[in-house]
Parts: sequence; C-alpha cells; structure tokens
Amino acid sequence: MDTFSYDAWDRLLVEVVAEDGKVDYERLAARGALLKEFVAGLDAASPDSRPELFGSEEDELAYWINAYNAFTLDAIVDEYPIRSVWKTRDGRFFQRRRHIAGGASLSLDDIEHEILRSDFAEPRIHFAINCGANGCPAVRPSAYRGEGLRDTLRQATEAFLANPWNCRVDHEAGKIFISRIFRMYAEDFAGGAGSTEKYRRGVLGFVAEHTGLDAERIAAYEVVYNTYDWGLNDTHRDPNIGPITFHEPVEHFAEADGELRELHLYEGNFCNRDCSWCTIQGSPDGWYQAYTPEVLDQALDSLAADGNLKFYGGEPTLHTPETVAAMRYVRERGFAGLITVFSNGIQAEKLISILESDPKSEAVLNYSIYHGRDAKPMPRYARDRLEEWARENPNRIFQGYKVLFHAGGGAEQEFDRDRESEYHGMGNRCLRCFPVLTTKGRFHACPFAAEVDSPHFDLGAVGTKSETVFGNYRSFLRWVDEELDPAAAARGVSSCEMCHRHLAELPVPEFAG
Ligand code: SF4
Ligand code: SF4
Repeated sequence: MDTFSYDAWDRLLVEVVAEDGKVDYERLAARGALLKEFVAGLDAASPDSRPELFGSEEDELAYWINAYNAFTLDAIVDEYPIRSVWKTRDGRFFQRRRHIAGGASLSLDDIEHEILRSDFAEPRIHFAINCGANGCPAVRPSAYRGEGLRDTLRQATEAFLANPWNCRVDHEAGKIFISRIFRMYAEDFAGGAGSTEKYRRGVLGFVAEHTGLDAERIAAYEVVYNTYDWGLNDTHRDPNIGPITFHEPVEHFAEADGELRELHLYEGNFCNRDCSWCTIQGSPDGWYQAYTPEVLDQALDSLAADGNLKFYGGEPTLHTPETVAAMRYVRERGFAGLITVFSNGIQAEKLISILESDPKSEAVLNYSIYHGRDAKPMPRYARDRLEEWARENPNRIFQGYKVLFHAGGGAEQEFDRDRESEYHGMGNRCLRCFPVLTTKGRFHACPFAAEVDSPHFDLGAVGTKSETVFGNYRSFLRWVDEELDPAAAARGVSSCEMCHRHLAELPVPEFAG
C-alpha cells in the first residue's frame, strides 16, 4: 500500500535539530529547498484529501503533528531573524498565516484546535507539537510516524517532564512546579472535568502517570505553573529570560465551579500617575477609600479560600500600611490562596515591603511604565531595585502585557496596531475577567470598567449572599456571550469600547437582588 512520504522531512530534521531539541534556523534557511519540498508534499496530500495513504488513526495523527511542526518552521523562516513568534511582522502568527494541507487552507490554530485537539483524544500531542518557543517540547530530530506513535508520544511526554524546567517537585514545601502547558490545556489532561478542583486533580494524575511520582503523595500539593518562555527556540540565541517576566493569570472560570476562584479588590483610582490610556482613569485627583473589615469579610466569604485575591487601584503603594494590613487581615482569617498586587512600581521600596509582608504574594507592573514605552518610564533606581529583588525572589514580580484596552481612558485612544489586543492574538472581545469588590462595598462585574457606574455591572453589595454574587456573575457572562460581544461585533468596535461608549443601547443582564 502507498503511504505518505516523510523522506524530505527526515533529511531536513536530522540536519537542523540540535541535540537539545532546538533549531538551527540559519541552516534551516540554507536548506529551504528541502523544507519547501516537504511543505509541497503536505499540500499535495492529507488524510482528508488522500485517505488511502493513511491506514490508521495513528497515521493520520502523525501527519497532523508533522504538518504543524513543518508549517511552524516554514513560517518562522519567512520572518527570520525574529526573537519570538510574537514578534512577527504583522502579529497573529498562529491565526493569520495560512498553510495548505491536502489543498485546504489552514492556520496553525486551525490545525491545533480544530484538528489535533478535536479529532484525536490524545493529550500527549502537546509534547510533540512545537510552536517555535523555548517553552515548547524539544523538536524531534526525525518525523513522527503512525507505527508505534503512542509509544513515541509517551516517550516525548516523559522526556518533557524529566526536564526540571517543566516539572519539579518540592516535597518539603508540598509544591509541584509544572509547565504552563498544563494550565493552557487543562481540559485536555483532565477530560471534561468542568471544575477547577477536578482539573487540578486530573493534571496531577497525568503528571504522576508520566513521571513515576506517587499520585497519592502529590494529590494535595499546591500546583505552581511556571513562566512560559516564548523566546525563539533558536540554537543561535541563548534563552534570555529577564528577572521580570510576563504575568499570566492562574485562575480561569470553569463551568462547574461553585464559587469565585478570583476576586479583585479596588480601593479607588487615586494614583501618582495619570496615564492617558488608564482604564479606570487614575490620577492624583482620583478617589481613595480604605479597606474596612466589612469589605474584607465579604471578600473572604465570596472567594474560594485557595483562590486568587487581586489588589488594585489606583496605586496600592500610596497606602502601603493599609494594603499590608488588609492582606494580613485576610490571612489571619484563613485565606490561603495567592495575593496579587497591581502597581506602577514607582515606589519600589514600598512595593517590596508589601511583597515581603506575605510570602504568597506577587506583584504585576504596568508594561508601559516599566519599559517607558507610551508612558513616562519609572525612575531608573526603582527599576534597578525591583529587578534586583526579582532576581533574588523568582516568580514574585511580573510585568503586564503591552496591550491597550479601549476601556476608560483607553476608549479615547487612537488605534495603534502594535498595542492592539487583536494584533497580539487576544482578539477584541470581552476578556471575561473575574469581578471586583470596591472599598465602597459594591460588587462590580469588570475591573476595567470599575469607574463605570451602571446597572449592567451591578453584581451586589456588602451583605449580598455569596451564592447570589456568583449567580449574578454567571448571568453577566451569559450577557457577554449573548448581548455584548455580538453587539460589538455588529458595530465593528471592540467589546471594551462597546462597554464604554454604547452600553446604554444594551439590555441589563438578569441579576438577582
Ligand atoms: S495605569 Fe496605573 S499608573 Fe497609570 S494612572 Fe492608571 S493606575 Fe495609575
Ligand atoms: S468588554 Fe466590557 S466587561 Fe469585558 S473586559 Fe472590556 S470593559 Fe470589561
């Protein structure tokens, strides 16, 4: 029987893949003809267009894994030299560029999400496909083949998890540090678990199965998801992760959850800066109200005890003693989860003192102020001090993303391609953030819109039962799906802009009192 040929792909991989699984992109560019030969072969046949070449499900799966990896290399070579797949000419690397497989035009996202993840119940694909980042699994120096594929995938998974950068256990501290891949695709590893706790257990079960770790021993361990290194997996470039990496939220809404996994605490928009694009219009003329026991008790009541509590304003370091006292208050009353503080970092020592007051806290700096792009930079000494502290205390200080949200002051900003969420592959629909409890005692559905006083965002107040707040939050998410996002798309604006300019046109979500 005729089979699909991987000869050109095999010959190429052996030449360009280094021992550590990185890619020699200069050599790859020089061997462009071989890459094009294989890409032309992918164009000529796929399991859809020539099923007779693929005798088993494994043959089909091997084709799509190889196709994903080859198309990734092909797209990178066209852009090279680049430092990351997020730095391509017009962004949206995974969505924009089209590739032809068996005559069908597909993006990398189409192959990953619509084919590999949808058609094959095989979570171990995540340790075989490579999107050109240092955080990805090593590139295999030969083609994947249908024969023996499940064993090959098992070996790839075990090799990935054997690297301490991807999986490290601290038995003494009861913590397991694993790749962010397990966060990004939790449902693939845990099945349709539906709730945050079940996802966690499913992921730990998968890790135990592929590492030899005792599943029961690690079942109660805290899971820490490592930073994902998006730097290009280029043999000509050493990984260079600065001391302050990008921040990723650890909590996501799961349909079967019964309580909030994350809550923002908002103390007002009083700030020592007045950034024109600030979503809550922070400024020295803004308002501030201190935390009260009633507000903090309500937060404790509404949030999962191991969830994520996020302090923001305004600028929390302008009220450092109050912020530290509020953090201490929730700890003394049993809050065991992560505390995140959003800060502009200008008062570096004060921010560090907040972090040092609580070992399970982290800070997120504003991208523009940290880098001095589109904003006055933070003072040099503050930046140096924060980087020095971050180097000594890994995973405690992060930076936010570059994206400008057209919310609050941002709604007035001109379109700027390099700062648009669309350009950075985040789309321009609602971010579906977790809600806010303000120090005025109100639950608001969106941290970006905290200064928009409208019944559309009113989830309740201090005294509202936590089940009611949670139910209202669910209603809000339904309203986003059914009303907000479709209305924004129809008008041709981002959903944030819709909230900030045209909210009155939309019906109010059905909230319980
Ligand atoms: S973006 Fe941050 S630093 Fe700038 S005004 Fe708003 S709260 Fe202040
Ligand atoms: S679309 Fe509206 S609710 Fe969603 S993140 Fe933007 S401002 Fe918030």
